[in-house]
Amino acid sequence: MGNPTGFMTITRQTGTELPPAERIRNFNEFHLPLHTDEQQAQGARCMDCGVPFCQSGMALCGMVSGCPLNNLIPEWNDLVFNGHWELAVRRLLATNRFPEFTSRVCPALCEAACTCGMTTGSPVTVRENERAIIEYGYESGVLRPVPPPARTGKSVAVVGAGPAGLAVADLLNKRGHKVVVYERDDRPGGLLMYGIPNMKLEKWVVERRVELMRAEGVAFVTGADVGGATGPAPDALAAQHDAVVLCCGARQPRDLNVPGRGAAGIRFAVEYLTGATKALLEPGHADGTGESAAGKRVLIIGGGDTGNDCVGTAIRQGCAGVTQLEMLPCPPAQRAESNPWPEWPRVLKTDYGQQEAIAVFGRDPRLWQTTVKEFLADENGHVRGAVVQKLAPRDENGRTVMVPTGEESTVDCELVLIAAGFTGCEGYVADAFGVQRTARGTVADDRFATNVPGVFACGDMRRGQSLVVWALREGRDAAAAVDEYLMGYTNL
Ligand SMILES: Cc1cc2nc3c(=O)[nH]c(=O)nc-3n(C[C@H](O)[C@H](O)[C@H](O)COP(=O)(O)OP(=O)(O)OC[C@H]3O[C@@H](n4cnc5c(N)ncnc54)[C@H](O)[C@@H]3O)c2cc1C
Ligand code: SF4
Repeated sequence: MGNPTGFMTITRQTGTELPPAERIRNFNEFHLPLHTDEQQAQGARCMDCGVPFCQSGMALCGMVSGCPLNNLIPEWNDLVFNGHWELAVRRLLATNRFPEFTSRVCPALCEAACTCGMTTGSPVTVRENERAIIEYGYESGVLRPVPPPARTGKSVAVVGAGPAGLAVADLLNKRGHKVVVYERDDRPGGLLMYGIPNMKLEKWVVERRVELMRAEGVAFVTGADVGGATGPAPDALAAQHDAVVLCCGARQPRDLNVPGRGAAGIRFAVEYLTGATKALLEPGHADGTGESAAGKRVLIIGGGDTGNDCVGTAIRQGCAGVTQLEMLPCPPAQRAESNPWPEWPRVLKTDYGQQEAIAVFGRDPRLWQTTVKEFLADENGHVRGAVVQKLAPRDENGRTVMVPTGEESTVDCELVLIAAGFTGCEGYVADAFGVQRTARGTVADDRFATNVPGVFACGDMRRGQSLVVWALREGRDAAAAVDEYLMGYTNL
């Protein structure tokens, strides 16, 4: 700790966020980083505490607190403060293979567990420090292609090029195994590419990493739906490779079984967000996925992060209004007594899309304790509205369930986006490989092995829908498990 009083004398300073009215004019990232000097000063706020909860990644009351990658946060905060940027890059990459992703999209579990945050009310800017370090790495050339010095003669197929697949491929390639990544979409990246909107993660950031991996020897085969219509069959992969790692995500969306669901204009959130990104990457593309929200009143079912991304995207497309339904009650503004630091704070978050809705339409788009009862269609079979009903919590054998109160109203809308979560992986991939699924729709055990010898799984496919930081952690641990299977030991 270079500056023992930094946490008292330096106030937290974050990069500039463009105001909502300005940033909704385009799909660009709207978070502008600090100047290098200012960022270095922020590193001085780290107290290098005896028990750094920020890097603990431990489960407390069912939720993880601190960084799941166990990033060596106090160490690189000190290197940032002292201007040892290259050393900071190397320290950061020791645990996190892709900090350019986490430093843009991670909810920063580290900052919620920061002791400085508990004592001063404002945690160290860990995520922005991380971003400054990795961007220095790219700009300075510290990050350049370094292919493995020797090859092991073993070959691994990675199915799915989301963050978990990229992480496992990167590490196994560095170890010297030949790695081929098979991806169903036309571009690698998984939800980093098609899901998380451009304003949170510009797509050149994903492409920059994929190019680096290509230059280091990882092969990517896109448009390959393994076990499906357009990809190699599992037998073919087994014949060509010594191990297979399934990283296909938890992509089965939870549907709504209500009258009128079949009306046109009712879509799943990821499909809509994919179309929005494709329209940016290839203006004028015409594969039918790019239906815009322009001029429409949009109803989003689901008050979580995916729903918020739909709000921000619909506003940028020029929607005429937006409403978000959330079944649960509005959380408190402050931590409840039953939710003390360093637990993850269960408090009200008004995310970027919701802030933009407030700026444009003058109200928070969320309707709490509300769900859809029925969709209404016009004479052409297109959705024109939804009957929504209020819910109230009720105790059922010690479990709280939300039940209808009888209060109903109608929301007019021309586009409905279902962002109600996911029910696990898509069954056809697991079935094609003969891999067993759990009741939660996940596969593989805590050693990343499935019931089929030589077939492993990681990321959301193993864990269920989660976070990018967890996908990277899963990729790191799964790479070690696969390496041990291939070599009889591992040094990953
Ligand atoms: C809209 C949205 C926004 C999100 N925003 C955030 C955020 O801001 N921060 C955060 O931390 N997390 C966020 N998440 C969660 C995060 O994106 C996921 O937890 C993470 O991407 C999981 O990584 P993964 O590699 O396991 O799976 P995915 O990213 O889902 O990647 C799976 C890949 O496998 C491919 N695939 C599937 N089947 C096959 C097959 N048969 N053959 C070949 N390829 C196949 C898919 O095309 C896909 O590319 C968000 C999720 C969603 C849905
Ligand atoms: S990966 Fe996330 S939790 Fe870990 S240090 Fe970075 S921002 Fe914090």
